[in-house]
Amino acid sequence: MQEQPDAANAGTGRRLANKVAVVTGASRGIGRAIALRLAAEGARVVVNHPAEDEVAESTLADIRSQGGQALAVSADVSDANQVAAMFATTGEMYGGVDILVNNAGICPFVEWFDLTEALWDRVHGVNLKGAFLCSQHASRLMRDQGRGGRIISISSISALVGGSFQTHYTPTKAGVRSLMQSLAIVLGPYGITCNSILPGTILTDINRAHYEDPATMKRDTGRVPLGRLGQPDDIAGVAAFLASDDARYVNGAEILVDGGLFVNLQ
Ligand code: NAP
Repeated sequence: MQEQPDAANAGTGRRLANKVAVVTGASRGIGRAIALRLAAEGARVVVNHPAEDEVAESTLADIRSQGGQALAVSADVSDANQVAAMFATTGEMYGGVDILVNNAGICPFVEWFDLTEALWDRVHGVNLKGAFLCSQHASRLMRDQGRGGRIISISSISALVGGSFQTHYTPTKAGVRSLMQSLAIVLGPYGITCNSILPGTILTDINRAHYEDPATMKRDTGRVPLGRLGQPDDIAGVAAFLASDDARYVNGAEILVDGGLFVNLQ
């Protein structure tokens, strides 16, 4: 199937008008910033979060106060039944889905010798199985709609490098990146593009405790050629680009968004 260029909305700042986006883990951090940005560009956004909470409500309130449309849907992305229910609700409320952002993720730092099977399974369940379940549900809807689609997964620089307290986490991020590469081949014929974003260090709740130590903050900031750690908005604009018609020929790709951290080896 050939996706038609969206000439009407090109260059308007509302590249996602008439689109429906599902953003997983959108109550906080990177997911919240992406949800706000996609809504600002005109998409109706499903703000996913694992359980009923006030934080997701605040994402909704911020989207609505900027004139956007959004709906909060709770679902643990590692639970097949809850994911199925979330996409059923999305279909009922918004008539389908055009953009999926697999963002939900957890990374509880732990020593290798203390890593339990239960924690390994939980991190894989949320980060990798969650991306599988959501991608399969979204792509079925996109295929049946027949108007193409976008699947964007938030992988990590950790797909490329190791992390001593993240031995359970880095394989999930490499797996998500690999999943997007394979799905780019499977879903390309339906006009559905599949790409990854690999953030470097972005200041969010996932690493807030780690950076309470000023020496750690100074060391890690010093490794970034741009001289600062990232903010969630640094990722949101890249996600909006990949979701838009501007990225219509980008498929099976990855964008490293790390301020130059990865290349600063010498
Ligand atoms: P965060 O601030 O901790 O936010 C994580 C989000 O995921 C929250 O909204 C959380 O919901 C949600 N979530 C957790 N478990 C879930 C589940 N089972 N089902 C649905 N949602 C769930 O983390 P973040 O830094 O924004 O991370 C977002 C993504 O970016 C993750 O995939 C992470 O691996 C990736 N990433 C982050 C960095 C970084 O430096 N921050 C770097 C590279 C990649 P609650 O609020 O209810 O807990």
